Order: sequence, then C-alpha cells, then structure tokens
Amino acid sequence: MVKKRQALLFSGVCVTIFYMKKLTCKELGGSCDEVITGETFEEMGENCKNHVLTQIQAGDTEHLRAVAKMKEATPEERSAMLAEYEKRFNDAPEE
Ligand SMILES: [Zn+2]
Repeated sequence: MVKKRQALLFSGVCVTIFYMKKLTCKELGGSCDEVITGETFEEMGENCKNHVLTQIQAGDTEHLRAVAKMKEATPEERSAMLAEYEKRFNDAPEE
C-alpha cells in the first residue's frame, strides 16, 4: 500500500504527494551511484531499468555487465536478488 500525504500548495490548491523512496543504481544491482526514485518497488524497478537501458545505449559497459549478470543468474538466484532489492526498498527512508 502506498502512503499518501496531503499538502497545500499555492492558495488553497490541495495536492497529494506520494512518499518517494530513493535507492542508488548500485543498490538495485546496477553499477553506478545514480539515484533512482519510486513510490513503489515496481515503479522503482521500472525507473532503474530505464536508467540502465539509457546508460547502455550511451555505450556504458558497466551497466551492460550488470544486465548480463542478471541474465546469467538462475531463476532462484534472480528471485533472491529481487527479494534483496525489495528489502532495500522497504528499508529505505521515505522522503
Ligand atoms: Zn547506473
């Protein structure tokens, strides 16, 4: 479940601000210190994937290696990795 908080912006305009969490690319199995944000683990995973793909398209080999490592992993290893990343997401402070 995503927690929400209400905030008053400008005069009387009420908007909903979601709690964002931050993890680095490295903490999500990548290879750099780029900060990845997301309101949910799924959203963060999507943002991380986009970041990694962007880096690879720019010719970065470190991210390519990180993806290769994920691809070489067995389904058991992969779900263990994902569980670890999800734990890091859950442990990350809300901002
Ligand atoms: Zn990265």
